[in-house]
Amino acid sequence: MTAYVLVVNAGSSSLKYSLVDGETGESPASGSVERIGESSGRLAHEVDGEKHTEDREFETFEDAWGAVVDAFEDHGPRLEDVEVVAVGHRVVHGGEQFVEPTLVDDDAVAAVEGLVPLAPLHNPANLEGIAVARKLFPELPQVMVFDTAFHHTIPEVAHTYAVPRAWREDHHIRRYGFHGTSHAFVSRAAAAALGRAVSATNVIVLHLGNGASATAVRGGESVDTSMGLTPLEGLVMGTRSGDLDPAVHMHLHRSLGWSLEDIDRALYRESGLKGLAGENDFREVMRLRASGDVGAALAFDVYCYRIRKYVGAYYAVLGTVHAVVFTAGVGQHSAELRAAALSGLDRLGIVVDDVRNEGPVSGATFVSPDDSDVAVLVIPTNEEYEIARQALEVVRRSVQPG
Ligand code: AMP
Repeated sequence: MTAYVLVVNAGSSSLKYSLVDGETGESPASGSVERIGESSGRLAHEVDGEKHTEDREFETFEDAWGAVVDAFEDHGPRLEDVEVVAVGHRVVHGGEQFVEPTLVDDDAVAAVEGLVPLAPLHNPANLEGIAVARKLFPELPQVMVFDTAFHHTIPEVAHTYAVPRAWREDHHIRRYGFHGTSHAFVSRAAAAALGRAVSATNVIVLHLGNGASATAVRGGESVDTSMGLTPLEGLVMGTRSGDLDPAVHMHLHRSLGWSLEDIDRALYRESGLKGLAGENDFREVMRLRASGDVGAALAFDVYCYRIRKYVGAYYAVLGTVHAVVFTAGVGQHSAELRAAALSGLDRLGIVVDDVRNEGPVSGATFVSPDDSDVAVLVIPTNEEYEIARQALEVVRRSVQPG
């Protein structure tokens, strides 16, 4: 019997969901409710390649959830007719405490509430999604799968910031890392594509979407990652700056009188590609660049340069690298980005084959020559499948302890 997991990603004003077979990753239905709390909300439910939409106001998360349950009832598959064994919730920040997927109970919810200061935008939204799902599906186990958990193996030397002891010990200021479900899925898929045991495979994963992060994975374990205490550090992103001299904050405050909120908004929403090229969508940046726009050309160069710098750094961290893997919207779709970001790395054994790189991507696709020391791969990420897989594992372990 197929074991389906209802995978949920609740944001501040949106709810994304998919029904996923936790064993095969097959997904018969998925959808989203956008703009919850606004007058112009939209539910989109996709089943068998057909999209059903409903435009109206969804006042609360509870309304949105109710509409999702109705969409399953009206357009299928009816939730009573398929074997749903769990609800799997994406939770952004698990702090130091949550190093693996965890069954939801009151204590676990209280502990995630305690982490809100570390993820003030994301964790409250994730918690609200969990609260409503618990009411709606009281008979189903609910599992939290944390974005940070895959990175709990990062050694102290790599997750420690050089700051006073009280910050580190009392306020838990350290590198946590994010996009963990994607890095876990993609690094395992890379080992499979190489025909190597996960435990004997070292990869650098480049997750390049709206948010972007690089991770060094040794033998299936994250040993360093570019995002830090928050998802602001590291690579250039759609609207986030990535790495920055921390003194920029003081400078903006002292010289322009900016408040913390002003600086926060600027670095999260007005920086990255948007700050450099005026557009946060990578395709738009590429269009502008092709038309001769100087800002867009610089944005592309800075974006690629930052990736190349991290590849070099993580090569040094790992010592031996078997593959560099591109994933997420930009990584999967932009051959130009892949070639530019890895150019000049032949001495490290990293070479992109132009013909393969320009070809279609289907499953795990090699874009390096056959005789390369280091494989370059494009692997579509599947965070929903990873969440379903992990949730199913927790549920099975809880009914068969040990
Ligand atoms: P994600 O967050 O994974 O959905 O990725 C979103 C990013 O991927 C956006 O910046 C898109 O512009 C970019 N993207 C999506 N499709 C393409 C494409 N065909 N070529 C280049 N970038 C793309």
